[in-house]
Amino acid sequence: MSEVRNHDFPYRRVCVFGAARSGVGAMALLRHHGVEVVLVDEKPAMEFRSLIRRLKRLYVTSYFGEFDESVLDTCEALVVSPGIPLEHWLNQSAVNRHMPIVSEVELASYFSGEAAPICAITGTNGKTTSTTLVGQMLTNAGKNAVVSGNIGRAFSDGVLASQDDTRDTVLVTEVSSFQLELVENFHPHVGAILNFSRAHEDRYPDMRDYIEAKLKITYNQTEDDHLILNADDPICVKAAEDSDAQIWWFSMKKKVKQGAYVGDGKIHLVEDGKAEAICDVTDVPIPGSHNIENTLAALIMGRRMGASVENLVKTLRTFKGVEHRIEFVAKSKGGVVYFNDSKATNLDSLEKALLSFDKPVVLLAGGFDRSAAFDRLNSLVRDRVKTLVVMGQCKDKIRKTWGSFVETIEAKDMDDAVRLASGQANDGDVVLLSPACASWDMFKDYEDRGRAFKRSVKAILEA
Ligand code: ADP
Repeated sequence: MSEVRNHDFPYRRVCVFGAARSGVGAMALLRHHGVEVVLVDEKPAMEFRSLIRRLKRLYVTSYFGEFDESVLDTCEALVVSPGIPLEHWLNQSAVNRHMPIVSEVELASYFSGEAAPICAITGTNGKTTSTTLVGQMLTNAGKNAVVSGNIGRAFSDGVLASQDDTRDTVLVTEVSSFQLELVENFHPHVGAILNFSRAHEDRYPDMRDYIEAKLKITYNQTEDDHLILNADDPICVKAAEDSDAQIWWFSMKKKVKQGAYVGDGKIHLVEDGKAEAICDVTDVPIPGSHNIENTLAALIMGRRMGASVENLVKTLRTFKGVEHRIEFVAKSKGGVVYFNDSKATNLDSLEKALLSFDKPVVLLAGGFDRSAAFDRLNSLVRDRVKTLVVMGQCKDKIRKTWGSFVETIEAKDMDDAVRLASGQANDGDVVLLSPACASWDMFKDYEDRGRAFKRSVKAILEA
């Protein structure tokens, strides 16, 4: 294993911009190491009551609501949260002052310590699923796997939890392109880029900038490190040229020299020039070929972090997937199976979900329209969807596109949608919530929508 560097953090007083999860994580990690912090956020103080009490205890100066660039006067660097664009006036003030701008992931990597190697996962799709699976694999292999990053817990918080911990710790970290943008020192021992597709066009009008941001995952890797790439993705194939790490490939279509692939219905691992069939593809319980890809990547990561093949296979066989991503909800007495794919807020995700089932699907779709061109999925919907239940702001648009060839019913809310869908489903059918739309017209977020679906399903099945 490479020596994981523990750079000395060069600043004694920094301004942290953004008091949400990653800003607060950065603040706590910095205070743990005795660095002085000024925390600022444009939201009013009344939204941060309990945080403000904590800031007082930690001797952190804070400004909420209105402030000006003088907050930077006494600071040596600005730490920015990934959600704040670099064009923001405070970031620009720092640029004008020639003040270093440090991302939260970058900051935390200064403190990640020699004892805790980083296993980092990026890609357009599948990050959370792969990260969660690797975390479980390493935990089951007896390691202290601390899962953090773009996944509910800030990387700084994960790093803080691993400080002074003498167990065999691995920092399993999901990283988005936003988080990688400003990376200088971030150095994963194992990195994975799952795939590239067009995303975040508002932040990256030029696809090359998006690719460049993701490639930063391997920026500091050396020949002692490992980079896992998708052999079926042409941009990943090209990315291999920009890395000094050992490359491990995964493929659904062809044999690889080193890594993992699917062939003859089996998952093969290739290490030291030898291929071994380690399990059947049908041993992976989470639906969809995209999830087999995620599993292949996770298997290689697990191996590179030292887990045994036996342990890895045991974990993947029992992996339940991640909530709201084609999540199994329930099976009715008659054999109708309900799945919650509320995270499917775009057409690509709906496509993946429909391709995951070979049974007739009663589909619940609709929500807040993100200018989707629904006709792109005409033939798939025609082939796989038996009945369509539409709801939300863009139900008319969906009905107009798919209603001419699939029986379509309108629902007024989630309870109504589930009631109508289960009335349409016969034994062996799948009822799938995969809205292909954002949730904000009817729900707080996609999680709120997914939970509403699950509640409605339970209520119907228990009635
Ligand atoms: P992310 O964290 O990158 O958003 P998730 O694991 O949360 O990814 O999955 C979100 C959605 O992305 C899934 O519901 C599925 O539609 C799609 N997806 C997951 N894995 C892949 C993959 N390997 N390739 C393409 N699409 C995928």
